[in-house]
Amino acid sequence: MNNKMLQIVRNGITYFHYPPWENGGQVKLGFSSRCGGVSKEPYDNLNLGYKWGDRTADVVENRRLFLALWNKNEKDLVCGDQVHGTNIALVEKKIAGALIPETDGLITAETGVALGAFSADCLLIYLWDPCARAIGLVHAGWRGSLAGIVFFAVEKMQTQLGSHPERMQALLSPCIRSCCYEVGNDVIETAKNSNWGNQAVYYPKGNKGHAIFDLQQTNINILCSAGLRRDNIDANPFCTYCNPSLFFSYRRAGGGATGSHMGIILLTEK
Ligand SMILES: [Zn+2]
Repeated sequence: MNNKMLQIVRNGITYFHYPPWENGGQVKLGFSSRCGGVSKEPYDNLNLGYKWGDRTADVVENRRLFLALWNKNEKDLVCGDQVHGTNIALVEKKIAGALIPETDGLITAETGVALGAFSADCLLIYLWDPCARAIGLVHAGWRGSLAGIVFFAVEKMQTQLGSHPERMQALLSPCIRSCCYEVGNDVIETAKNSNWGNQAVYYPKGNKGHAIFDLQQTNINILCSAGLRRDNIDANPFCTYCNPSLFFSYRRAGGGATGSHMGIILLTEK
């Protein structure tokens, strides 16, 4: 993994961005850390998700601060109401501001609208086809990954936006990584029965039928099976679970209240 995703601080907010794509002038993207917002414990402090029970006014302010880094606000943003499914929505500028029900993947070829997704251990996958001038953003936990969501996102960018996988690029966000991601038998059984079982990467652990699941490598393998070139895929090496000063982690919070990170990607004006 090359890890050209850079961690920077701007306007007091710590986040990650990706110069190899941005330097071309066609696309901008970011992934937030937990640092630089106004939320109080246990949402401290850049919680960008409404679902955790944090004060709405604090999340509104955090989103304003984060989106301002790209001169955007919530009216410019389209997000999916994520359900660990495989629905991919084709986003048009005219629905800017929308929250699309039961959707974990977004694609677009339009400027003037930003794609947003949320995570608190799950993986976000950014997609870009510079020739088709098309982008995508996918939310993938173990369930969505093993249901092939990133494969379907690549497929829909082909059929709807004229993308070609061999020239597409993919970037994987920080997520819970194999240092920390122990899963139960339910995940392993799902992997075995999945159409992407051959791409799933996990290692047995202990004698309870548990395993260490590699979310990033599983999705890299699925992206390659969808036709992407391995050297067009990059991944951030940070684990959300074992870096508490930088990241929220649903697992580390014991399934209780925490915050959400946000991923954003947008096409710049021609
Ligand atoms: Zn870890």
